[in-house]
Amino acid sequence: MERTFAIIKPDAVSKKLAGQILARIEAAGFTVVAMRLQHLTKAEAEGFYAVHQARPFFGALTDFMSSGPCVLLCLEAPDAIKQWRALMGATDPAKAEPGTLRKDFGASIDNNATHGSDAPETAAFELGYFFRGLELR
Ligand code: ATP
Ligand code: MG
Repeated sequence: MERTFAIIKPDAVSKKLAGQILARIEAAGFTVVAMRLQHLTKAEAEGFYAVHQARPFFGALTDFMSSGPCVLLCLEAPDAIKQWRALMGATDPAKAEPGTLRKDFGASIDNNATHGSDAPETAAFELGYFFRGLELR
């Protein structure tokens, strides 16, 4: 078993797609270990995406991520990190495979509906950034 960190981003929450995305997560076999609705501050979004600090889209990305509430999730499954990224699809919804969440629910590369950790180290950092040990038992 493996755990990963996922976000249903503000664009999807504001379009009332969170329920549908959660249903797809559960249908795909993931267990929801922890979940919280939270409107991130700009500083919280900057800390979360600190790895992208030098990228030209950092300001727009952190504005977007702090623009409204999102759903923060710890998901568990065999090979969860890879499997969740496969279910999300490519970063740019226009390039995402049919049947993926970003294809079905993302509008653009900036408004792409979901986030997923990309490696065991980032999953550990991101889960620890948003969840307390008590919530991850
Ligand atoms: P995420 O980390 O959100 O799961 P990802 O791992 O597929 O997405 P990253 O390279 O980590 O992609 O980029 C983080 C986010 O920054 C992307 O989800 C996207 O919204 C935004 N982003 C990435 N590349 C670009 C770009 N070239 N132009 C605009 N926004 C971008
Ligand atoms: Mg990423």
